[in-house]
Amino acid sequence: MQKISIVGAGRVGETTAQILAEEELCREIALYDVREDVSEGVALDIFQTAPFFEFDCRLTGSNDPAVMAGSDLVVVTAGFPRKPGMSRSDVLAANVAIIDEVTDHILAHAPHASILVVSNPVDTLTYRIAQRTGWARSRVFGQAGVLDASRMAAFIAEETGFSALDITTIVLGGHGDTMVPMPRYCTINGVPVSNFIAPERLDAIIERTRKGGAEILALRKNSSAYDAPAAAVAAMVDAISNDRKRLMPCVALLEGEYGERDIAMGVPCVLDESGLARVVELELDDRERQDFEHSVAAVRADIQRLAEL
Ligand code: NAD
Repeated sequence: MQKISIVGAGRVGETTAQILAEEELCREIALYDVREDVSEGVALDIFQTAPFFEFDCRLTGSNDPAVMAGSDLVVVTAGFPRKPGMSRSDVLAANVAIIDEVTDHILAHAPHASILVVSNPVDTLTYRIAQRTGWARSRVFGQAGVLDASRMAAFIAEETGFSALDITTIVLGGHGDTMVPMPRYCTINGVPVSNFIAPERLDAIIERTRKGGAEILALRKNSSAYDAPAAAVAAMVDAISNDRKRLMPCVALLEGEYGERDIAMGVPCVLDESGLARVVELELDDRERQDFEHSVAAVRADIQRLAEL
């Protein structure tokens, strides 16, 4: 990709910009934030790491949304993170106004871009942006499952002592307490995790994965997670930028898959140079189906709240 814009030069936006630059996933990164001067400062600071990390990617920052002009991809991180004790849905009302404004800027300045949504609640806000732009689902999608799966992999690595490199995990559903970690599909280099972890320990890991964001928020106190979230965004950008055709859990608009439509939530998807190329349907057993439907209901409740805001 030639140009990627990042909306929101806060913790997630800045860390994402740093990783995208280090990995040279595009030639130019533009940071846009409503706060005056901040994104300019962030861009300058990151560009000054170029001699250490040996990248040629150029960075610019501005509080003028026109800085996004010509973007191939816009990563949306603008908005309030939740505070300790809050759920992601608690920031919906505050963030939907921000997201609407940002969407209008993208429509005006980067009408040919794809949009990768990070701001929470990410399922509902991805849905909102898709509705407001009217763009195909290949161009509007969100990040949640890549992060949730990496959290689960980290917990399995801690529990078993195996390298995190060998651990494959998948987490579906909404990015909240109803997310659906899928232990049946989790392996250590192809060997089912159930060979190494007792059922009650695996249940504890599933529960810890569901609350993974809240755990970090409680420890960090005045910040939600941003290192792993930014790395998760960068992994998705890498898949798109390098046309890798990677299978990753993404927030996608469902068009009948899993028996659902008119909703966006986490499902396995293929990412390639076109963006979100397709949704992959997995057969769910009874318990997985029940958990998935519980998650659908939670995301739908937030989507219904959109009409009241
Ligand atoms: P932050 O407060 O550090 O940064 C948010 C930035 O958005 C700020 O710099 C703010 O000035 C900017 N902003 C606010 N309104 C704006 C507007 N109208 N236009 C442009 N910029 C605007 O927050 P953070 O920790 O970076 O988190 C950002 C968002 O990402 C939150 O909603 C958080 O919940 C979400 N998040 C999502 C995931 C995920 O997995 N999907 C993970 C972590 C964080």
